[in-house]
Amino acid sequence: MFESYHRLLEALLAVARDLVSSDGGEPAGDSATTLTTPFSNISEANWVAAVQLWNAHGRSLIAALEPRPCPACGGERHRDLFESYDGYRYVECEDCGCWYVPLRVEAALFEEFFTRCPEARAVAEKSFEGREADDYQDGSLERIGAYLDLLLPLLHGAGRARVLDVGCGLGHSLVAAAERGLVGFGTESSKDCIRIARERGLEVFDAADPPPAGPFRLITFWESLEHMSEPYEILAECRERLEPEGLVALTVPNVLSPAILLQRADCPVVHGGYDTPGHTNLFGPETLRRLLERSGYALLDLDGQYGASLTDLFAYGAGLHRGAHDLLLGRREARGLSEATIGLMRWTGPAFSILERIAHLSPILVVIACRKEAADAFRADIERLRNARRERLLAEIDSLVPKPQTPARIREAIERRRDRFFRIFRRREPEP
Ligand SMILES: [Zn+2]
Repeated sequence: MFESYHRLLEALLAVARDLVSSDGGEPAGDSATTLTTPFSNISEANWVAAVQLWNAHGRSLIAALEPRPCPACGGERHRDLFESYDGYRYVECEDCGCWYVPLRVEAALFEEFFTRCPEARAVAEKSFEGREADDYQDGSLERIGAYLDLLLPLLHGAGRARVLDVGCGLGHSLVAAAERGLVGFGTESSKDCIRIARERGLEVFDAADPPPAGPFRLITFWESLEHMSEPYEILAECRERLEPEGLVALTVPNVLSPAILLQRADCPVVHGGYDTPGHTNLFGPETLRRLLERSGYALLDLDGQYGASLTDLFAYGAGLHRGAHDLLLGRREARGLSEATIGLMRWTGPAFSILERIAHLSPILVVIACRKEAADAFRADIERLRNARRERLLAEIDSLVPKPQTPARIREAIERRRDRFFRIFRRREPEP
């Protein structure tokens, strides 16, 4: 390792030398950096409209919500952290360190809000239409499909296995399951989602009703556990419906991701909810482990996914952009970052993402668990999964190492592209 650190120091000093000898450290004049928006299921305009309507007509409803204990450990002692941009108080559990909204934020709250403010319902419906759009659907199918492909080798003899997705939204996960020969069921609390999913012929149950009867080979929570006011109760109930050697898999936003830890109330991901229950539980690796153990599971594997935008983080840290606060004012640009900083952030971004993943600081955590007593049965499978991941990571790292662009290499790349173009072209030609 010592040699690696030595090479890193050398490389950083070479960058510093270049900066000092050129004018690269000067601010980039008028050129602005446009910040990425973290919303995949809602357009930025709809997000701004929804939050503004909630802040004007809805957030006073928060005062009437029932209190709740820590969603991870059940503890009652906490300290105040901050108030989110949509008006929720976030606290930190004194026992386990989980960040959460100490109130029961549930779907009924937004029904009441929509009755008060029909304009907000119209905005919410518009964003649902966006989620039905083909490209969002394709992205969602691809993403959940990749998780299922990871899990299939662990689901011994998975053919026609029954799987349950808790908080399934519009039911894209059920479609991805069916594409792999699994029989998918879903539960959902949003009436609009249930209606749309059922119109598509999907088996989606209202979360307020008794859940579909088990047993299930696999129960999933694709970014839904962070929205639930009673994650412990739901996980414990799912345990009763899980096959003895079944699996639970979930993804959640990671409280240890630099964007949340650094930006806190200014991080767009940190919101209690303006049209549906928001991210009222902000779990990290340890609080998730604690929650799973308390509800009768063993955590088998934990991985990170995606990476922070270093440019966004740097713009925030340097006071050039105020995160969600500025995004709500329609300001997406950060001015004053030097060309050198922008270049450094972009070029080191891919390596940083891999380091985030290794340290479990990625924006999303991917977790696999099973019943406590079944952990031994999965030991060999998990070992194989980890070895395969290590191989993929090494290949990814190799592919990122910059290659010198010799004229021969450039010619080669051009030839390859032309060859591919002609092949596509030929396939499209009509038969003579
Ligand atoms: Zn706790």
